[in-house]
Amino acid sequence: MKNEYDVIIIGGGPGGLKCAEQLKDSNLSVLLVERNRIIGPKVCAGGLTNLVAASDIPAEKARSFKRQTVFLGDRQYEIDLVNPLKTIGRSDLGRYQLTKIENSGNITILKETSVKYIKENKIITDRDRFHFKYLVGADGSSSVTRRHLALKSKACVGLYYNIPDVTDDLIWHVNPPLLKSGYIWVFPHRDYTNIGIYFDPQHIDSKNAKRALQDYLADQGYGYSDDNLRAAPINYLYKGCVFDSIFLVGDAAGLASKPTGEGISFALISGAEIGNKILDPTYSMVDLDRVLAIKYRQERMLRIFEAFPCMQRCFFKGFVNLVKRGWFQRYLGN
Ligand SMILES: Cc1cc2nc3c(=O)[nH]c(=O)nc-3n(C[C@H](O)[C@H](O)[C@H](O)COP(=O)(O)OP(=O)(O)OC[C@H]3O[C@@H](n4cnc5c(N)ncnc54)[C@H](O)[C@@H]3O)c2cc1C
Repeated sequence: MKNEYDVIIIGGGPGGLKCAEQLKDSNLSVLLVERNRIIGPKVCAGGLTNLVAASDIPAEKARSFKRQTVFLGDRQYEIDLVNPLKTIGRSDLGRYQLTKIENSGNITILKETSVKYIKENKIITDRDRFHFKYLVGADGSSSVTRRHLALKSKACVGLYYNIPDVTDDLIWHVNPPLLKSGYIWVFPHRDYTNIGIYFDPQHIDSKNAKRALQDYLADQGYGYSDDNLRAAPINYLYKGCVFDSIFLVGDAAGLASKPTGEGISFALISGAEIGNKILDPTYSMVDLDRVLAIKYRQERMLRIFEAFPCMQRCFFKGFVNLVKRGWFQRYLGN
C-alpha cells in the first residue's frame, strides 16, 4: 500500500463516503480512512427530510411517512407533509453508499485505522503515516481534523433506545417546562422503533434527559434495557468548510442543525460540494450555501424561542400551525 495520496478523507460516514463518490473515477488518488471495521453503523435515529436526494438512499430500505404527529404537552397535532419524512438504518445507508465507490480504481478504503493526529501534510494513524495534497475531515462531531484546525465545537446530545416493536406513527413530543428546547422522537424503522431524546446540555443535564426518556417509555408501555442505550454529541458550530488544503464536511464542520439535530443531509451535501471543490477550485458551492441558509433560518427561530421562556408554549402552538402549511415546510427545508 502506498503512503502518498492526492486526497485523504478521514471518516466513512455519509459525508466522507459522499465526498469519495464525487471523486470517483477522477485522476486523483483517494484514501478513505475509517476507524471501524464495518462502514455504516453510527449512533443516529436515521430520520431524513427532503433535503436528502432520492438517489442518496436505497428506497427499498427506507420507510416513508406522509404525516407526523406532534404532541405539545397533552395536545396533539397532526401534520400532513408535502414531502414525506423517511427513516433508514445507518448500516443500510452506509452499505448503499459503499457500493457506489467500492470498485473504483482511484479509491482505497482503509478500515480499522484510527487517525491519531495530523502534522503538516501527513496523517498519523495507529498503523502508519500517509501524505496528502488535500485532506477532508469527515470525522464527525469529535473530529481530529477540526481539533487540528483549532476550531471550537458546540454540541447538543441525542440519546435513544431501539425498541423491538415495529410501529407506524412518526411522533415528536415537545414539552418546554420539562425538555426546554429539546424533544422526544419516535422514529419507526422497518424492523424496530427508535425512540430518543434530543437536548441542549446547557439547558438540561444528561441524567434528567435520560429520566425524561425512560418515563416516556414507561408511560407508553415500552420495555427497555440499559444495554440498548446509545448517546452521542452533535456538533452544530459552523466555522467554515475550506481551510487552504484542508476541508471539513458534515458534523466535523458543525453543519448539523442545532434545533433539530438533523445532520445526515448536511453531511451528504457538504461531502458532495467539497468533492466538487477539490476537482475544480473555482467551483462555487451553491448547494452548501442553500443548506446553510436553512440551518441559520432554523437556528434564528430557536434563538427567538429560547429568548422568551414564558412564551414558549404560545410560540410552539403558532409554529405548529405554520408547519401545517406546505410553503413553511419548504422554508424550513422539507
Ligand atoms: C442520537 C443521535 C440521533 C441522530 N438522529 C439523526 C436523524 O434522525 N437524522 C439526521 O439527519 N441526523 C441525525 N443525527 C446526526 C447525524 O448522525 C450526523 O449529523 C451525521 O452522522 C453526520 O455525518 P458525518 O459523515 O459528518 O459524520 P459521522 O456519521 O459521525 O461519520 C464520521 C465517521 O468518521 C469516523 N471517524 C471519526 N474519527 C475518526 C478517526 N480519528 N479516524 C478514523 N475514522 C474516524 C467514524 O467512525 C465515523 O464512521 C443524530 C445524531 C445522534 C447522536
